[in-house]
Amino acid sequence: MLQDLLAQRVNPDVSSALSGLFPQDDDPRALSFAAGSPREDLFPVAAMRTAFDTAIVENGAHLFQYQTAQGNPALRAKLAVRIGKWGQVTTTADNVVLTIGGQQAIELVAKALLNAEDEVAVEVPTYVGALAAFDLYQPTYHAVPLEADGLDLNRLEETLKRHPQIKLLYTVPDYHNPTGITMSVTKRRQLVDLANRYDFIILEDSPYRDLGYVHAPLPAIKSFDTEGRVVFVSSLSKILMPGLRTGWLVADGDLLAAIMKVRLASDLETNNIVHAAINAYLDSHDLDAHIDALKANYREQCAALVQGLAAYFPDEVTYTRPDGGFFDWVTLPKNVDAAALLTQTVIPQAHVTYVPGTNFYPDRDVHNGLRLCFTGLTPQEIDAGMQRLGAVVKQAVRG
Ligand code: PMP
Repeated sequence: MLQDLLAQRVNPDVSSALSGLFPQDDDPRALSFAAGSPREDLFPVAAMRTAFDTAIVENGAHLFQYQTAQGNPALRAKLAVRIGKWGQVTTTADNVVLTIGGQQAIELVAKALLNAEDEVAVEVPTYVGALAAFDLYQPTYHAVPLEADGLDLNRLEETLKRHPQIKLLYTVPDYHNPTGITMSVTKRRQLVDLANRYDFIILEDSPYRDLGYVHAPLPAIKSFDTEGRVVFVSSLSKILMPGLRTGWLVADGDLLAAIMKVRLASDLETNNIVHAAINAYLDSHDLDAHIDALKANYREQCAALVQGLAAYFPDEVTYTRPDGGFFDWVTLPKNVDAAALLTQTVIPQAHVTYVPGTNFYPDRDVHNGLRLCFTGLTPQEIDAGMQRLGAVVKQAVRG
């Protein structure tokens, strides 16, 4: 059997955490709270078209040549300044690596660090794409719950005491996917202290950090890093366009060298043309003004979602109150399975979709959570969708 020839890491009996996430729904009345896509009508398409032209005219044939493994130096320098300003991280272009989305950065870190059965701590629920990347390296997971102000550090420390071999902790500290939760500054500092004391690496994944609707971005966990143990990852997918497939990481010393070793083996270097175009775009446009326009829209959509949850959902249901990002997390009573509810009742009766939460847990053992994304619908649609979903949920909870 050909299947027997596959590596164990792609075990065909276990589906990728990323597969089957989005419910099939051909109902034209359906309102989708499922996919975490940014709004296409806000993409700066014309400006990017001009930027591609500028990049080609200014660089000529050299643009189409192999260049440097870490990626376009001018763009890296701009990103280093950006994370300095917003994240209070002191770094330079030499420590920045451009990647194919934040997703590749996560995968490169996993590849550089994880042997089979190595111990990894993740907050739960967590980003499915990270689980999909880690899964390929067959780690042993330790799940640490989230609190309203981020990772439960007491539980993390208990876990570290019992499992001192944990080598990596993955966290999304800003407007977390899938819960919208943000880690407090105090916890960021304490987390780095724990990493120093218990000798593990922190993978700080922060693609949503610019999209705060209430306050300015908090200092990155990386800003408290004194020993080069934090790898910071971010992306232009949510603040510019995901089709650019441009993410980036910041790392130091031996970790940076290890990541560059796997990067060279994976793809030598990334899309020079795209990165030169982004650099030209940033030379002639104010990215922060663009982000402000995104925030003005998403802020209203976020508020509509939270208002809808408050107005239409029964008291037995709890939900987060995000002040940035794309997502809200809803917890149903333990006996309600969010996946079954979606296919049996929500899609046919309420004409609404969401992502059932099971795949956001490494052991896929929690069934009563669901993720709502508010970026794809107008505030009016969000209100209508929450009203419809709330009615179905009330029925399921109260019978
Ligand atoms: N990390 C998180 C938390 C995400 O939500 C996403 C995208 N949904 C990514 C990483 C990867 O995105 P991209 O590869 O487009 O940068």
